Amino acid sequence: MNHATLFSRQLQQISHNLEQHAPLPALALIHEMNSANPRVNPKQKIALLLLKAQAETELGQSHALSNTLNEALGLSQGADLALERLQIMNQLADQMYTMGNYRQSIQLWLSCIELGLELGDTTTAISAFISIGGIFNAADEHERAYKLHLQALQYCRNIATPYIYCTIRLYLAADAMWLKRPADTLRLLDEADPIIQQHQFHHELAESYLWRAQALLQLNQNDEAIRYLNQALAYAEKTHHFWAQIKCGHQLGLVYTQQQRYADAEQSLLEAQAIAKDSEFMQLLRDCLLALSTLYEQMGQAKQALLALQAAHDLEHGLAKRAPILELEPRILKQLALLETRFSLEISRQENRQLIEVQAQQSQKLDQLRTEVEQDPLTKLANRRWLDTHLPQQLRSISEQEPLSILLLDLDHFKKINDDFSHLIGDEVLRELGFILQRACRDVDTPVRYGGEEFLLSLRGLNLFSAAKVAERIRHQVEKHRWPASLGHRAVTISIGVAQAHQGDSLSSLIERADQALYCAKSLGRNRVEL
Ligand code: GH3
Ligand code: MG
Ligand code: MG
Repeated sequence: MNHATLFSRQLQQISHNLEQHAPLPALALIHEMNSANPRVNPKQKIALLLLKAQAETELGQSHALSNTLNEALGLSQGADLALERLQIMNQLADQMYTMGNYRQSIQLWLSCIELGLELGDTTTAISAFISIGGIFNAADEHERAYKLHLQALQYCRNIATPYIYCTIRLYLAADAMWLKRPADTLRLLDEADPIIQQHQFHHELAESYLWRAQALLQLNQNDEAIRYLNQALAYAEKTHHFWAQIKCGHQLGLVYTQQQRYADAEQSLLEAQAIAKDSEFMQLLRDCLLALSTLYEQMGQAKQALLALQAAHDLEHGLAKRAPILELEPRILKQLALLETRFSLEISRQENRQLIEVQAQQSQKLDQLRTEVEQDPLTKLANRRWLDTHLPQQLRSISEQEPLSILLLDLDHFKKINDDFSHLIGDEVLRELGFILQRACRDVDTPVRYGGEEFLLSLRGLNLFSAAKVAERIRHQVEKHRWPASLGHRAVTISIGVAQAHQGDSLSSLIERADQALYCAKSLGRNRVEL
């Protein structure tokens, strides 16, 4: 097995482990591959690192995950790796955000918007744009977050994927929750939930239940809220959504404390605290410690309350150094405003493209419909409707220099062909005659199936005599034609009446004269042309 095949087999094995939620064997295999293949190319190396990141996400190893993604980012600087770079930046930004490193996450998201727009990946660009709103929330700028998310909603009203549709609503629901507008929160979640459920976005379902619970708490519906928090917790656990697990545990702890269910409160908070510590979510860890401190205080355990408070303050000290978001603001806002302009441009371009596509499809459909309306399905020649629409126009423009004649053609004893063979064979003869007429015509002539076994040919620029010559040629061709073997040696012939249009002729008066000539041809023995 060559090197590349072996490598891709191993990648498959790792993906398989990850699908089975077995991150440890996946990591072991990745480690083994790293030592065995020191000379893989950057693309392969990135693929490997992204799988490693997936395993670390599942294990909640925040710092290892950041290192892995940063390493991948460093390798993805080549022009041919732009798509990978976009994906990595997006993941890293999320990770930095959950770890409270807002400065880096916002820079990464801004780069994601830029690169996403450049690569035509509007979905990722929008998704990064939406995430930036979360930073405003972290800085207690909830109105601004809400406005930004409304803007995003506006941008993708026509182009949202189901995932984006749900994400925007979840963010808006959270903004409304922060702004203490529980009715808005519930309405937005009601819009998102059916799509979330339909597409089985489990992470998002956990978040939706969490925001719903918060809104219910604001409406003092505590029991209902606890029910949703427990549901959210169950989903978050199932999908290794650590952030949501901690949030739910923390919130449950607060409600239980309020209800003086101290044992339940302590259990929820200690569990949440442990997860926050393991997955290194420092903000959330601080929140859990503060909640524990309040709980112990209410329980009259002053010493423990103090210890928890001190631990929270120790963390606070570290956090404050990491999140000076206000200092960044003017620059960020300027950059954001610039990108917003590009955004609306790109979106309207995309909408335009879609509109043009829809219009093209519609006009194609219309053309097809028109063709179908004016076409005979059996012979594919024009039909009488076509004749009624187009011939009167030609008639109006005749002159001495521009004469017009018509031929009316009728199969001889066709009834007998039907009777002796079958209707199907009869149909075949009609179709074949259609071909003959089509081939005998110039581009400007249009053969028409006038009725059952009658055809009409309008010949522009031909006077009576020239038209009669064409008629005679066609009659001869039909007589000499090699008809399908199914007809045996039966002769197939046609009779033709010719008429030239006069000034003031209507369609019916012209056809009437051709019909008389045709009748004449029939009564004179058929298989002939008459004027
Ligand atoms: P004539 O030489 O006097 O024109 O005799 P004819 O038998 O051709 O004329 P008639 O008007 O008596 O019969 C026309 C026949 O054409 C009757 C009808 O069954 C047949 N016909 C009309 N439309 C179709 C069709 O779409 N398919 C088939 N197979 N036969 C058709
Ligand atoms: Mg007839
Ligand atoms: Mg006939």
